[in-house]
Amino acid sequence: MGIPLLDLKAQYLTIKPEIDQAVLSVLDSARFILGPEMKALEQEIAAYCGVRDAVAVANGTDALVLVLKAMGIGPGDEVITSPFTFFASAETIAQVGATPVFVDIDPMTLNMDLNQLEDKITSKTKAIIPVHIFGQMVDVERVMEIAARYDLKVIEDAAQAIGAEYRGRRAGSLGHAGTFSFFPTKNLGGYGDGGMIVTDDNYLASELRMLRFHGCQTKYYHEKIGYNSRLDEIQAAILRVKLKYLDQWNEGRRQKAENYDQLLQALSLTLPGRDPLAKPIYHLYVLRTDRRQELMDKLTAAGIANAIYYPVPLHLQRAFRYLGYKEGDFPVAEKACREALAIPCYPELTPEQQETIASVIKNVR
Ligand SMILES: *Cc1c(COP(=O)(O)O)cnc(C)c1O
Repeated sequence: MGIPLLDLKAQYLTIKPEIDQAVLSVLDSARFILGPEMKALEQEIAAYCGVRDAVAVANGTDALVLVLKAMGIGPGDEVITSPFTFFASAETIAQVGATPVFVDIDPMTLNMDLNQLEDKITSKTKAIIPVHIFGQMVDVERVMEIAARYDLKVIEDAAQAIGAEYRGRRAGSLGHAGTFSFFPTKNLGGYGDGGMIVTDDNYLASELRMLRFHGCQTKYYHEKIGYNSRLDEIQAAILRVKLKYLDQWNEGRRQKAENYDQLLQALSLTLPGRDPLAKPIYHLYVLRTDRRQELMDKLTAAGIANAIYYPVPLHLQRAFRYLGYKEGDFPVAEKACREALAIPCYPELTPEQQETIASVIKNVR
């Protein structure tokens, strides 16, 4: 039996009766879109993050698109983000017609390097999207200070960081808005697609509610051109069950990560760097090594799943060729793409499995 990167079946089995009951009750209610489960989840997520409001949408990508649209960002505008993230962080900037501008990453946290951020701001810059990569937060308070000086909006891409903290404040709650994804493999994952925006700005929240529903406040009266982007009742009901376990699961991941930190110390590997003010949730546990291929081969031969996050930095993606970036523009992100490898890290992982994984890694030196 191999060890998977994430074991969603094992997680389901721990909560099966509750999940099955929640799904059946939605089927029974025959309310499937924009119903009470979604409204309740919005309130619960807002309370969990410590913000005034939350707006559920169809996925984490739409969450970013709708926020950018609601903030009036479009053609001629620039938005700054990290080149070391999932494609959607920058794809959405391009989708609304604006131009993604990248800033290199910090070699310790792999998050946007805040020392270089200000250099990227121009008269066209409208917003900054800090991404909390692998579940460790960016210092958003510092991003907000910089943004305030130039009158910019800050949107936290917290797709990988629900429940993570920085100085005791939760991911998504520090910027003008924060976005989450409920893709099945995220720390709070549904059994399909889902997303959410959290914000303290009531006006922004009401704009988002219009945009997700074809620009309507009242059915069949369209105030603006919008989208069809809703979280369905079945997903909302599942997520409400899972939200109750999120802190416990995040704590489980932190324990597994600390155990790896012990087991793998003193090897010629770079372990996940830790900002002492951040409380990460280890969406992924990512090692860095210049012997990555050898490490991958040995893990795979031993039946241990592993995966590269991310193989190509965004500035070198073919789809962004028109932006005119070249190799060498963001050397830290490029090096991370050559060296990063995620190994299994989830609450159901056993100490014995971690020992097995560590012993294989030790063989690579
Ligand atoms: C998953 C993810 C998204 C997109 O979320 P979807 O729900 O898959 O659309 C955006 N940004 C980051 C950093 C992600 O990891």
